[in-house]
Amino acid sequence: MAIQLGFYIDQSRCIGCKACVIACKDKNDNEVGINFRRVYPFENGTFTVNNNGTFINNVQSYYLSISCNHCDDPGCVKGCPTGAMSKRDEDGVVTVDHDKCVGCKYCEWNCPYGAPQYNDELGKMTKCNLCIDLLEKGDRPACEGACPVRAIEVGPIDDLRKKYGDVHEVKGMPSASITNPNIIITPHKHAN
Ligand code: SF4
Ligand code: SF4
Repeated sequence: MAIQLGFYIDQSRCIGCKACVIACKDKNDNEVGINFRRVYPFENGTFTVNNNGTFINNVQSYYLSISCNHCDDPGCVKGCPTGAMSKRDEDGVVTVDHDKCVGCKYCEWNCPYGAPQYNDELGKMTKCNLCIDLLEKGDRPACEGACPVRAIEVGPIDDLRKKYGDVHEVKGMPSASITNPNIIITPHKHAN
């Protein structure tokens, strides 16, 4: 493979605004219920009550913005019986060919991240293609461009690793050992 593209997510900066989700939906013209990118909230802790009736706040919350991770060992590709789901040699992006897709959803069942999104109208699976059409024109992916706190960056995964390290799994995510996802994360302080 010439290069492998992937995502950097700065979870410590993410404010959970979902601008990335909306930009992705808009770019891909996705109906309600189809979300190539999703933002998951995580909450834990409690409020404790003092003797005088006041509250102590021990609540922690953080967000994780995630899409397809264009994995090195993609369960979706392995699970697809028709060869519709495949990984591109030139950049490692995982795409779905609608001429071959029969809508069986095996890819969805084999993805630990919930990335493939079934489109009822088409009767086909759909998913993030890393905005390869925009990248080919020299533009930036929709999610990256929309994030108001610059918490998303797309690029060659080796370059992202050099800049940001090699954390590819935080609290609340599936084990990275399942599919070797191409995502690098700066964890939120409560997600370590
Ligand atoms: S995140 Fe899911 S859909 Fe994307 S490449 Fe990995 S296994 Fe496939
Ligand atoms: S839904 Fe389409 S892409 Fe997914 S496994 Fe079935 S044939 Fe392959």
